[in-house]
Amino acid sequence: MNRDELYASIYTHDTIYLPPWEEGVPALEVALGCSWHKCRFCDFAKDPFQIHPMDKIEQNMKILGQLRPEATRLFLLGENAFVIPAEDLAHIFDMTDQYMPHVNEFSMYARIDDILRKSMEELHMLHQMGLTTLHIGVESGSNPILHMMNKGITAEQTVEALNRLDQVGIEYCLTVILGLGGRTFRNMHAIETARMLNRTHPKNIWCLKLKVWENTPLETMVKKGEFDPMTPEEILLEERLLLENLHVTNCLYVDTTVLDVYTIQGNLPQEKQSLLTAVNNLLRFNMPKMKK
Ligand code: SF4
Repeated sequence: MNRDELYASIYTHDTIYLPPWEEGVPALEVALGCSWHKCRFCDFAKDPFQIHPMDKIEQNMKILGQLRPEATRLFLLGENAFVIPAEDLAHIFDMTDQYMPHVNEFSMYARIDDILRKSMEELHMLHQMGLTTLHIGVESGSNPILHMMNKGITAEQTVEALNRLDQVGIEYCLTVILGLGGRTFRNMHAIETARMLNRTHPKNIWCLKLKVWENTPLETMVKKGEFDPMTPEEILLEERLLLENLHVTNCLYVDTTVLDVYTIQGNLPQEKQSLLTAVNNLLRFNMPKMKK
């Protein structure tokens, strides 16, 4: 097999989705689908949930090791790969000694309940073995919105899980969905999400504007008039409120979906004012009648 065929042989799908911060990192598919699979807005988790058998993971790691022999970091692929029990994750980490001997850092997607199910000892062990970063969709800090979207976690659980990661030294990158409360909850979404994030220490916050995907429960809610989506301009106003109330430190803030066109990015807290200026300028340009 040539190189492309070898790559194709170790992934279920033609396209794999890594967080932007992990670009270029080799990805080892360890699971498919999401163990929760019930968020009303989600179009992401299409496969039935499964954790791959260890012999398949080992075989794929062997191939990946041949393709990327110098890699020092490995991303474990799966919608929430951190659902895998700690001892199995430890076994996967250990296998790199044989097949990818330079790898000393691991990262993956996680749900909040995946973290809470692990003991502090297990989290500490995984960190000692090289788990550096978890990528987590927290979406909102507002319990009514999390409930409405059937996220299956509360804001308090999110804070508890992330504080546990802080204690053992595992970094986390968070995703927030702007517009997730619709018009009904827009101010509450911004304020309560900022309040929740202010109790955590994310390495970065990636904001994405809500998209109502076809054939999702959220699309049905919209059709029934149970969810009132916000316009891109309204979402930008919500983002301004979020930023104004955000007091995290040592954190990169990124929104790649501003008005469906722009990206804003800056380090918090140093560049908070620049981010707000950018948002205000975009608002002025797109909503000329608004006051500052
Ligand atoms: S936890 Fe993530 S992948 Fe799973 S259903 Fe919710 S949004 Fe989708």
